Amino acid sequence: MGDKVRIFDTTLRDGEQSPGASMNAEEKLRVARQLARLGVDIIEAGFAFSSPGDFESVKRIAHEVEGPVVCSLARAREEDINAAWEALKGAPRVRIHTFISTSDIHLKYQFRLTRKEALKRAVEMVGLAKSYTDDVEFSPMDASRTQIEYLYEVIGAVIGAGAATVNIPDTVGYALPRQFGELIKGIKENVPGIGRAVISVHCHNDLGLAVANSLSAVINGARQVECTINGIGERAGNCSLEEIVMILKTRKDILMMETGIVTEHLYPSSRLVSAITGMVVQPNKAIVGDNAFAHESGIHQDGLLKEKTTYEIMRPESVGISKSKLILGKHSGRHAFKARLKELGYELGEDDLIRAFDRFKRLADAKKEVFDEDIEAVVQDEILRIEVHEGYKLMGLDVRSGTDVRPRAAVTMEVRGQAVKEEGEGDGPVDAVYKTIARITGTKSVLLRYSVNAITGGTDAQGEVTVRLEEDGHIVLGQGAHPDIIVASARAYINALNRLEYKKKEKRERLV
Ligand code: MN
Repeated sequence: MGDKVRIFDTTLRDGEQSPGASMNAEEKLRVARQLARLGVDIIEAGFAFSSPGDFESVKRIAHEVEGPVVCSLARAREEDINAAWEALKGAPRVRIHTFISTSDIHLKYQFRLTRKEALKRAVEMVGLAKSYTDDVEFSPMDASRTQIEYLYEVIGAVIGAGAATVNIPDTVGYALPRQFGELIKGIKENVPGIGRAVISVHCHNDLGLAVANSLSAVINGARQVECTINGIGERAGNCSLEEIVMILKTRKDILMMETGIVTEHLYPSSRLVSAITGMVVQPNKAIVGDNAFAHESGIHQDGLLKEKTTYEIMRPESVGISKSKLILGKHSGRHAFKARLKELGYELGEDDLIRAFDRFKRLADAKKEVFDEDIEAVVQDEILRIEVHEGYKLMGLDVRSGTDVRPRAAVTMEVRGQAVKEEGEGDGPVDAVYKTIARITGTKSVLLRYSVNAITGGTDAQGEVTVRLEEDGHIVLGQGAHPDIIVASARAYINALNRLEYKKKEKRERLV
């Protein structure tokens, strides 16, 4: 047995701060259930005070997801901490995570507080949080650029006020591994009462060092790592959960530490977060990228055929990548479909399951081989979209295009319960469809990006279309999948328009 390192997942809070990655309450709940299955110790479910949507998500996750401690972020302000508690209270395992900046740069230019004032507020607010729950975490924001004696003083004071976890953020991703490790070591050696608290770290990836810095911190005494699935998050993102977990597992011989993560759920979790946020995983990403276990060189392949360990330091199955990717066909039954969905992180209600299965059967008829990616696309397209906003629905589509005709589209849509039909032209079939949909909905949004991917090989593959729209500073992603890429394009656009409506509504309800 090695020393336990707690995994604090902030995909739903910091990860959601990735531009364009916002999730609605249903989607967050789905990710939270998968995180519980994955075995994370703490889920940072959101920032309850920041919006009614976040408040609702924190509340639902805390009350409905079993296993992990559920945490809400809160600035060191009374109203924030009260809102966090309001969302968490009554749930089985909860934490309040409060923070205040401590670096001179932040205090002087952003918050206009003196060190003394910041320290006083930190202690008072930890005390307030502690009056609600024993599980209180405190972060001195921009810790890696904070004057060191002052940092020790703040950490000691909040532990005195009852903080059970002290989190050291490298907020701007500036630290270097050895330096950050020494910072943790210094805290361990110099802060009075530090033995009563767990030291946590929260590293950003601006210089590509988030995982390295987190690892260095762990080697020097940190016992909680804040991280996200696929490393998503503010700017260049956070420490990647799958990477730090697999480092600790694969090099346990040297590091002698372990986590509670069920690593076989890493890949399905990565896929789920990627599908829901629209943040694609780069193919050469460690652990979960498409090429992470693909051996191309002849010499390597020869070695692998003789003995796996010649070139494989981890087995793909250990992170949940199945050896044979083909999994279901037209003769597969509903039970097999349901079981596979569960492995992929989707637990559907009976009605949704019937709808998804029906769509899967039609797909399996049209396409000989059905892959995990196809099933995910079906679920995303058929089930998850309706949880966003049902204002716009595609009812019918008729498109003409070719070498000698001006592309033309006839689109029938349901707009807030009313069927509307329009026809229009464009430079290509997608352009004709999009212009017609834009006319029907009257949208003022701008299309920032359009991309189409074949989900699997073969010309019968489903096309997966991703679009990015912007209106009034809101950026949303929309996705659609269908064997006909024009239909997939229409679905993606309408999905994005629905998300935009949801965003605009959420902003109207926003408190701050
Ligand atoms: Mn952060």
